[in-house]
Amino acid sequence: MTPSGKKALLLGSGELGKEVAIELQRYGVEVVACDKYANAPAMQVAHRSRVFNMLDGEKLLEAIKEENPDHIIPEVEAIATPVLMEVEKEGFNVTPTAKAAWLTMNREGIRRLAAEELGIPTSPYRFANTREEFEKAIEEIGLPCVVKPVMSSSGHGQSTVKTEADIEAAWKEAQEGGRAGAGRVIVEGFVKFDYEITLLTVRSVSGTTFCEPIGHIQVNGDYRESWQPQPMSTQAIEEAREIAKKITDALGGYGIFGVELFIKDDHVIFSEVSPRPHDTGMVTMISQDLSEFGLHARALLGLPVPSIRFYGPSCSRAVVVEGDTDEIEFDNLDKVLEEPGVQLRIFGKPEVKGHRRMGVILATADTLEEAREKALRAQNALKINVK
Ligand code: AMP
Repeated sequence: MTPSGKKALLLGSGELGKEVAIELQRYGVEVVACDKYANAPAMQVAHRSRVFNMLDGEKLLEAIKEENPDHIIPEVEAIATPVLMEVEKEGFNVTPTAKAAWLTMNREGIRRLAAEELGIPTSPYRFANTREEFEKAIEEIGLPCVVKPVMSSSGHGQSTVKTEADIEAAWKEAQEGGRAGAGRVIVEGFVKFDYEITLLTVRSVSGTTFCEPIGHIQVNGDYRESWQPQPMSTQAIEEAREIAKKITDALGGYGIFGVELFIKDDHVIFSEVSPRPHDTGMVTMISQDLSEFGLHARALLGLPVPSIRFYGPSCSRAVVVEGDTDEIEFDNLDKVLEEPGVQLRIFGKPEVKGHRRMGVILATADTLEEAREKALRAQNALKINVK
């Protein structure tokens, strides 16, 4: 808040952005948190906030010019990324790079880069704009297949087509659930993976560093449970690191990346990558000396990340609330937090419409099994009263 102080413009103020804001403030950085609604989680801890639609290029440019930040940090995918490309050319610093934000905003950009330019193994895929193209794509890929809007995340608009009877519903779902409304979809061959992981990969002045692999369970494309470390064979972890290094090197810049991978018979298939902290990586708030948010802040500020200290087996469980209300009460917390090694984060989101991730339970123990059981016990004890 002084002329010589450093300022960060945080584009996206959800639960992940909130932790990034806190970590940046630990280095004395002034944080301006942006999102499309007021009182978003990161705004509650930032120095200042701005409410506007970040997909609106003019508004985004206005915010950047007015704030003149030292760091522009995209925290969500839904951003007018061509503006980031433009301001980066003028000398603004975008985390990790404007190209990374632009390519990963759209599933097509990152998929083509990985599969067609870098030769990384992925599921077979086709893109479709119209119903006709969609049916042709399904025919070529075969059943079962997964359908997603090219602009979507957290499972919005995503479905699996198992039989021909599902085709109609999948098209409708993808047209309604996309971030930018109706539009282009990706049809992916269904990968019958043994397990899936997020490999958190940090690019910093110290080079590339990997966190222990994170295993997770998704329900309809939305994360519900994650744990660390996911046991892997030497071959699988080596392949996973090789792929993560290749894709993050191609995106460039400094920061943390969540590289999503499927593992089948010790072979690794690339799914997608976030050039920012990953929701499944919230487990690192209890499992590591520097969480994924702390690592992101350090890397993007140009500070060294010499090594990451892993504390031991840990688990996270998303607290998803259903309803249509702004009156939500978290109850029975004395029981939730009764056991040692359990923590709870409530994000402070102002309301729920449908279903929404409102908090996370974290647990750590001597073994992975115990950590997962402990987190489940804590979650079962949590009472959520929705009015
Ligand atoms: P995504 O939004 O692409 O990360 O997809 C969310 C989740 O859906 C993944 O973490 C997987 O559990 C599942 N999924 C996505 N694509 C596929 C696929 N091609 N085959 C099997 N499962 C998939």
